Amino acid sequence: MTDCIFCKIIKGEIGCFKIYEDSDVFAFLDIENDVPGHTLVVPKKHVSDMDTCDEKTFNKVMLASKKISSHFLNLGYEGVNVATNCKEASGQAVPHFHVHIFPRMHNDGAKLEMRPASKKQTLESVAKKLRMQD
Ligand code: 5GP
Ligand code: ZN
Repeated sequence: MTDCIFCKIIKGEIGCFKIYEDSDVFAFLDIENDVPGHTLVVPKKHVSDMDTCDEKTFNKVMLASKKISSHFLNLGYEGVNVATNCKEASGQAVPHFHVHIFPRMHNDGAKLEMRPASKKQTLESVAKKLRMQD
C-alpha cells in the first residue's frame, strides 16, 4: 500500500535497521527503542492485521518470529515476549500486520503489563459469552 509506513520500510523508501529478511517476511528494529532489540516482524505483502491476514502469510510471519526469537536466545538473551496488537481498540497504531519481539534479560527493568479493564465481569459470564462450539 502506497501510504503505509511499513510497506515503505520494506521497499527501502524509509530507512530501518534490518534484522531478518526472507522472500515473504521482513524484520527490523522498532523505532521506539524502549527495550533493546525490540523487533517488528512483518509480512512483505500488505495485510492490515492478524484478523485479515491469510493463514499462509500468518504462518510465515509466526515461523519467522520463532526463528528470530531463537536467534536472540542463542545470542544470550534469557527470554522473549512476543505480541501482536490487532485493530485500533487493542492499541494497534500501524495498520500493517506486525509481531513485536522483545528480547529480555533477568532484571532488565522492562515490564510488559496488562492493566485491568475498568469494568470487571465474572469468569462465568465471560466464559458464557465467549465459549466456542466444540
Ligand atoms: P502497534 O502499536 O501498531 O502494535 O506498533 C507499531 C510500532 O511501530 C510501534 O512500536 C512504533 O514504535 C513502531 N513504528 C512506527 N513508525 C515506525 C517507523 O517509521 N520505523 C520503525 N522502525 N518503527 C516504527
Ligand atoms: Zn503496508
